[in-house]
Amino acid sequence: MAITDKFRKPGRYFLVTFGCQMNISDSEKIAHLLEERGYQPTLELESADLVIVNMCSVRKSAVDRIYGLAEKIEHLKKSGHKIEAVLTGCYLKSAEQRKLLKIFDLVCARPDFFENPEYLSQPAHYHSFFRAYVPIMTGCNNFCAYCIVPFTRGREYSRPAKEVLDEVKKLAQGGYREIWLLGQNVNSYQGKDGHRTVLFPELLSRANAIDGDFWLYFTTPHPKDLSDQLIQVMAQSSKVAPYLNLPAQSGDDIILKKMNRPYVIKDYKNIVNKLRQAFQENRKNEEKRLALSTDIIVGFPGETEAMFQETVKLMTEVEYDMAYIARYSPRPLTSAWPLGDPIPEAEKIKREKILNEILKKTALKNNRFYLNKTIPVLIDYYDAKKKALFGKSRAYKTVKIDGGQDNLIGQVASVKITEAGSWGLYGKIK
Ligand code: SF4
Repeated sequence: MAITDKFRKPGRYFLVTFGCQMNISDSEKIAHLLEERGYQPTLELESADLVIVNMCSVRKSAVDRIYGLAEKIEHLKKSGHKIEAVLTGCYLKSAEQRKLLKIFDLVCARPDFFENPEYLSQPAHYHSFFRAYVPIMTGCNNFCAYCIVPFTRGREYSRPAKEVLDEVKKLAQGGYREIWLLGQNVNSYQGKDGHRTVLFPELLSRANAIDGDFWLYFTTPHPKDLSDQLIQVMAQSSKVAPYLNLPAQSGDDIILKKMNRPYVIKDYKNIVNKLRQAFQENRKNEEKRLALSTDIIVGFPGETEAMFQETVKLMTEVEYDMAYIARYSPRPLTSAWPLGDPIPEAEKIKREKILNEILKKTALKNNRFYLNKTIPVLIDYYDAKKKALFGKSRAYKTVKIDGGQDNLIGQVASVKITEAGSWGLYGKIK
């Protein structure tokens, strides 16, 4: 059942999104669907007739935040407020989340919401006028031992190539400057184009060939599907930004095997080296440097101190620009769930801290590379309190620019980098 079938009288809607860019993208489709049917957005929960929570179950902490919001909704309902509440997104049909059923009037786990994964074809109400997310596939077939995505989003489905490319073209014509191709396992894309199957390197190359002045990103790739052909396409396609998030998850081969990640660290490092070499050979100036980020989980069941030291080694050697370090939290239905959570939280916090210290140093070292260089920065927003503009470089570095005007938002400015910190760059508009 679609949300609008149940709630026939259009009113004001309050849409909250938890989680990743895929969820943001899904919310953009929900917003479009509602507004097409006469609903108006509101930024206040109290003034809404319809609340939609697009949830994330990837970590327990995300689910806990949803309970906090659910309590507010329950309180509003009890105090006589006429409000209908819908829960969608990565909802897990598990004991842990069943309690949410009592608070929400309608719970539609992802595959039911738009009935099938072809919901990706629905138009979107983009959240920004210069940055856009284009979902190219959804779901995942990999079943990493810690991950609930294959249970909440189902198996992989790739959107037809023409549809993806038409959306990119429309965005480019509309003046969008930053376009992301999204998928849980983006580089295993296999979309139809007539009778042919288009693989991710071809899709990326065809997106790159679209006219327009835009920067092209994609996320999240799986190392096992990062082919030599994709590396070449990335390095040779001028619109593809010199930034990549390549999740390692652990630096230890035994843990990787337990996580059901089908690669060893030697192969992972080999990919990193090939990527760096390809950018060195094909790009100009600062784009010769590929900014790399990763995802790491600390405290996966069975991770000994020696195994953790392998992750320390990986992070030290690869010298990441950014790392998203998560403390392991068991998720129902996953194959690691029966292993429990044997590593004490204090130990996980300690390991997380050690990795963050390494990251702080490597990120600072990498950021110093941009010192005194003049680079293009896409201006994101103006912070009136800090009297500064904030934006992103092509390598996806946050750049703080003192002064400036908010009429630059959504524009690309030439910025001379005057200072580098671990978490960003500082500069002046040239
Ligand atoms: S590749 Fe692994 S971590 Fe990524 S969505 Fe699939 S199962 Fe989850």
